[in-house]
Amino acid sequence: MIRQAKGKTPRRAAKKPSNNQKDPVGVYCRVRPLGAEDEECCIEVISNTTIQLHAPDGLKANRNGEFKETQYSFKKVFGIKTTQGELFEDVAKPLVEDLIHCKNGLLFTYGVTGSGKTYTMTGSPGQGGLLPRSLDMIFNSISPYQAKRYVFKPDDKNGMEVQNQVDALLDRQKRDSQTAVPKTPTTRRIDPEFADMISQEEACKADGVDEDTSYSVFVSYIEIYNNYIYDLLEETHIDPIKPKPPQSKILREDQNHNMYVAGCTEVEVKSTEEAFEVFWRGQKKRRIANTQLNCESSRSHSVFIIKLAQAPLDADGDNVLQDKNQVNVSQLCLVDLAGSERTSRTRAEGSRLREAGNINQSLMTLRTCIEVLRENQMCGTNKMVPYRDSKVTHLFKNYFDGEGKVRMVVCVNPKADDYEETLLVMRFAEMTQEVEVARPVDRPICGFAAGRRQRNQAFKEELTRRLEERGGPLDGESPTVLNQLLQSFPPLPPCEISGPNDDVTLPRLIEALEKRHKIRQMMIEEYNKTANMLKSVLQEQDSNLLSKENFIQEQRGKLGEKDKMLQNQKNEIDRLEKKSKMLEYKIDILQKTTNIYEEDKRSLQHELESREQRLQREMSEKRRMEARMQGIVTDSKLKWEKECERRVNAKQLEMQNKLWVKDEKLKQLKAIVTEGKPENRQPQRPSREKDKVPAKRSASPSPVPTGPPVRPLHRRSHSAGGERWVDHKPTTNVDLDTVLQPNIPNAIKVNAPNEKALSKCDKYVLTHQELASDGEIQTKLIKGEVFKTRGGGQAVQFTDIETLKQENPLAASRKRRSSETGPDCELNERDWTDVETRCSVAMEMRAGSNLGPGYQHHGYQKRRKP
Ligand code: ADP
Ligand code: MG
Repeated sequence: MIRQAKGKTPRRAAKKPSNNQKDPVGVYCRVRPLGAEDEECCIEVISNTTIQLHAPDGLKANRNGEFKETQYSFKKVFGIKTTQGELFEDVAKPLVEDLIHCKNGLLFTYGVTGSGKTYTMTGSPGQGGLLPRSLDMIFNSISPYQAKRYVFKPDDKNGMEVQNQVDALLDRQKRDSQTAVPKTPTTRRIDPEFADMISQEEACKADGVDEDTSYSVFVSYIEIYNNYIYDLLEETHIDPIKPKPPQSKILREDQNHNMYVAGCTEVEVKSTEEAFEVFWRGQKKRRIANTQLNCESSRSHSVFIIKLAQAPLDADGDNVLQDKNQVNVSQLCLVDLAGSERTSRTRAEGSRLREAGNINQSLMTLRTCIEVLRENQMCGTNKMVPYRDSKVTHLFKNYFDGEGKVRMVVCVNPKADDYEETLLVMRFAEMTQEVEVARPVDRPICGFAAGRRQRNQAFKEELTRRLEERGGPLDGESPTVLNQLLQSFPPLPPCEISGPNDDVTLPRLIEALEKRHKIRQMMIEEYNKTANMLKSVLQEQDSNLLSKENFIQEQRGKLGEKDKMLQNQKNEIDRLEKKSKMLEYKIDILQKTTNIYEEDKRSLQHELESREQRLQREMSEKRRMEARMQGIVTDSKLKWEKECERRVNAKQLEMQNKLWVKDEKLKQLKAIVTEGKPENRQPQRPSREKDKVPAKRSASPSPVPTGPPVRPLHRRSHSAGGERWVDHKPTTNVDLDTVLQPNIPNAIKVNAPNEKALSKCDKYVLTHQELASDGEIQTKLIKGEVFKTRGGGQAVQFTDIETLKQENPLAASRKRRSSETGPDCELNERDWTDVETRCSVAMEMRAGSNLGPGYQHHGYQKRRKP
């Protein structure tokens, strides 16, 4: 045995490394006639491979630039006059030939609703479509070589078994007893509804049918609606009062990784009529189911699967070889797809919208799968093809990633209304042509000598002929045989007695009769011998029969066991199916939950984005504020720096003045000490000569007199014109907004003391401002008398310091009250501006006051004053 083929279908390419050849998907285009003569047409067949699309007038206006005429090319284009037979010749016949030669095929019709898909696939009375014609061709080719019913038996796992003659016979008997099916289907009355779908005249036949093979045809019919699979051939008890909705089926993968509909009914059919009748039964059921499910047939996909099982005859050419491994199963799937239009066109509403969505979804998945396949093949990529996304693509996955011939008839209605949908159909069809599918390989032939069936038949014919020659009617010997036998006896002598003395005739007769008797005896013996032999043969046969009956009994027992097992497995399958439904439902719910979460996520993201934007805005605002603050800070820093500088300068001047005052005092002190001996009084150059403020010092009234100072008592006479004051106010002084401003009438106001001013006056006052310990500005009026020096210069002798201070009325009032005695306070108020009074007040402050040493020094001066 060199055949390796397994009874599985279809095969995967991976298992056939020898098959490298690929063919593109064959795409054909069929244009149906317009519904009405006056309809606008948008399609023109320009050759037998090309069509041209013209955008309808209405569309050209609102579609700028996209109204150019587009051409689409296909393997072949069938115009409106094409007959069903012509289409079959080109499109389906090669697929049927492949089927008979153990190769798989897939044929689907694609197009918008009303474009002629069903017409092409099924046809109408008198004009049978591809389906009835395919069935007819199959049976025309194989009917002489068909196996008896139930010799091939589907194993429910997408495989095929061969039953022995006895089991097959038992199954047949069971079928006959259950259904009153007449034994000869060909003589049956055909349903008039589809009677002339199959015409006898156009019958065609496949070439090269192997006569030494036994064939059997099985058909299944399913509908895929809303991504659920329904078995249209399932025998169900239909309750007319409360019809149950049809149960959906699931897809399974067999041990060769081929997809199949689990538990799908496979009906063995023996003739075109029977097959088509089964199809029609499914068709009727589909109509009923569609009304139950409230669906239009244009929204569902229908799949008619023809399985051809074949196995070689045994060496005698008598029976099918009892070897499962020798069974070959090929299948042809005829698919009438749902209308390819978009949802809007179906005018679907409510729950129908969802259905339409799903239908479109499965066609979308088909489109996506084709796209990915094409990309993978053209670009060498290895993207995952999403077959599993819909039942239709999942079921036919093996055709695309395994092997088999795939053909598509694109149906188009040339009417202008369909233009946009047709455009999409054309694009998909063109793309599909670019996908390649592995070419199915030829099956190796089995090892037996060819011509077994013929030899067996010739032998059988010969046998009957011989039997007929030898045998005959059982009611007595046939005349010819009897005559022959009689002739083998010696003839009887004449028995007429000539006279009473005739003693010759009788003895001669007796002799002859004795001879005959002897022969008879011999014949009886022969007969008995033969009879005995026959008896023993019969007995042998009897015992044989008995043992066979026992065997049958045994097999029946086994069958029962198997039935039980089958039942268990069926229950298990039911359970699993329920579970899978449950899981599908759960998945649905999870999907919905996911959607809700995604919605939430989107809204949160949105919020996050808006918040981020706000943050951004606030950040930039902050930065602007910072910049502004920076500006303000640098401004005020500059201002304060200036202020500090100013204050430092003031302080410096003040210190210089103080220094000058101290110098003067020192000089005067020296003068006092050296009063008695003026000749010795040599003015000392103050050590601070080198001080860094010579300019200011020089401006001060001659700190370095050229001669010894005049006597202090040598005052300028008052009578000359009353007291005259030099009012020295440094420019650095702050203008205080207070009433306690020394206002000396007739005074010479100077910013810096100078010789000229001093020479004209006899009194000097310096208004000096400084910062008191409490932070307030206090003003000191340092007063002195101007003397002429001997050298002709001017010198000032300080006599008095008056302190003017501003205080916070609340904080200072108590302090004031405690330091001043009531009446004095008021008394002084009046004379505050009088310098002399102020000098005396300052004097009184001397004793016990905690003024600095400078003040004590002034006190001393005052005391010395006459
Ligand atoms: P689909 O299945 O694509 O929705 P149908 O096959 O039901 O479309 O066709 C719609 C109508 O058009 C039917 O009445 C059918 O008989 C008719 N029709 C379709 N194609 C042809 C054709 N090539 N020649 C004549 N009539 C056709
Ligand atoms: Mg249809």
